[in-house]
Amino acid sequence: MKRRHIRRKCGDLIQSLELTAPFSVEDLCRQIAERRQRTIRLAPLAFPASGPAGLLVSTASVDYVFYEAHTTVTHQTHVIVHELGHLVWNHAHAGPGEGGGSYEGGSLLPKDIDPVLIEHMLGRTQYSRPEEYAAEYFATQVLRLVSGPPFDTAAAPPGVSALDTRLGRSLQHGGAHQR
Ligand SMILES: [Zn+2]
Repeated sequence: MKRRHIRRKCGDLIQSLELTAPFSVEDLCRQIAERRQRTIRLAPLAFPASGPAGLLVSTASVDYVFYEAHTTVTHQTHVIVHELGHLVWNHAHAGPGEGGGSYEGGSLLPKDIDPVLIEHMLGRTQYSRPEEYAAEYFATQVLRLVSGPPFDTAAAPPGVSALDTRLGRSLQHGGAHQR
């Protein structure tokens, strides 16, 4: 999918959600979980400095969103919404080799997640991949919509060039996955 198409589709996806003011990550999780009929669990994790700041792990019934424990709430929120973006886009159901799958830090995972049950993992920082662009675009748009006055739930996310510039810059610098 071309980036232009990703941006357009992303606007539709965001409009299908009810973003609350003030913004609540929990509420967004609840909506996405209901839509997917799967449980979403958020959990802080201490990531290695060289790794990503977020990780999406899907088992047969639960989508785990891990986020860097030792960073600002703003950064954590961005990381979480980015990972939720993968869920909204249904990246977790991409076939093996398509949606990602490998994260060398998998051994960091809490013991109650049986590696055998893991069907899908997204944690790489490869923004050139369409999935990463789509998830990051989702996060940037959602957080832009809910941050700062005036908050307007009916506002369509416009493909304004200023945002693209900003997004391009944050992607260049590694964006959400980097500290
Ligand atoms: Zn990602």
